[in-house]
Amino acid sequence: MPQISVVIPLYNEIGNVGPLCAALAAALGSADVEIIIVDDGSRDGSSAALDREAEQRGEQFKIIHLQRNFGQTAAMQAGIDASRGEVIVTLDGDLQNDPQDILPLAQRLLAEDLDVVAGWRKNRQDGLLLRKIPSRVANRLIRRITGVWLHDYGCTLKAYRASVLKGVRLYGEMHRFIPAWLATLTYTDRIVEMPVRHHPRRAGQSKYGITRTFRVLVDLIFVKFFLGYSQRPMHFFGTIGLGFLSLGSLMLLYLFIIKFALGVEIADRPMLIAGVLFFLAGLQFLNTGVLGEMLARIYHESQDKKTYVVRGTVHLEPPA
Ligand code: UDP
Ligand code: MG
Repeated sequence: MPQISVVIPLYNEIGNVGPLCAALAAALGSADVEIIIVDDGSRDGSSAALDREAEQRGEQFKIIHLQRNFGQTAAMQAGIDASRGEVIVTLDGDLQNDPQDILPLAQRLLAEDLDVVAGWRKNRQDGLLLRKIPSRVANRLIRRITGVWLHDYGCTLKAYRASVLKGVRLYGEMHRFIPAWLATLTYTDRIVEMPVRHHPRRAGQSKYGITRTFRVLVDLIFVKFFLGYSQRPMHFFGTIGLGFLSLGSLMLLYLFIIKFALGVEIADRPMLIAGVLFFLAGLQFLNTGVLGEMLARIYHESQDKKTYVVRGTVHLEPPA
């Protein structure tokens, strides 16, 4: 079993496959490392190019072909599922991350007994307005929410302790917030960062457009909601619900008393309407809490559902 597994999601990177594999071989050649490249349904010839590289370079290079384009997160999960190392290092396939940083990250993780060593693109080579500024806002918010003090959540180049990383199932666009999820599974002082190199994309185009900037912000709200309340949605909705329900009940009780004990007519009092509304709103919120609780349960119990389908593998057993 290799000590380190490198996991690289890759989609339509025909111009990068050759240079990427050469750079990986140069940086990791004799090390106790397996390299798992996940072809996320490429249709530009990357698939065949990857097979050729693996064929020529030997067992160290392992390829997983996904049936279609499932997205970067699902592709990473496919690689993580197949990995056998004690440490998993993820990075991009367009050579924006530098394969020479892989071993230093992994070695620090092992030497200092950490769970995450996150790459920090101190010198980020991306557009300012659409990439760097939104990500600065996002990083600040995630720091607040999670208490994990990283400068650069979005950097894909990170080393993880496999046993911890395998404790979360990634779906949607979660790969951007992995340390935030891991912070729910381990102590935050076991998650550290380390500056890494960053280069402009070597060939081809970014797979993400302007819509991602907005998606990240929407995701953030979700992360906040999920991290905060997922364990017990009932605590969130239930508290609001009980508040409204008590207020409504008190108002109705008051009206009941003045009508039947004191004989006061209440027919057109605004309080009657307010009382009924609060009462109903309270019931609704409670109900939402209960539903949320049930959903959370179903979510947790359906964890072993796969988010991707494998078409074929090279130098790897196909997943069961
Ligand atoms: N990627 C993927 N599936 C996708 C989109 C992207 O596997 O649906 C890969 C892509 O090939 C690259 C990495 O994810 O290796 C990061 O993508 P990209 O470079 O386009 O993102 P950016 O660097 O612009 O954030
Ligand atoms: Mg890139």
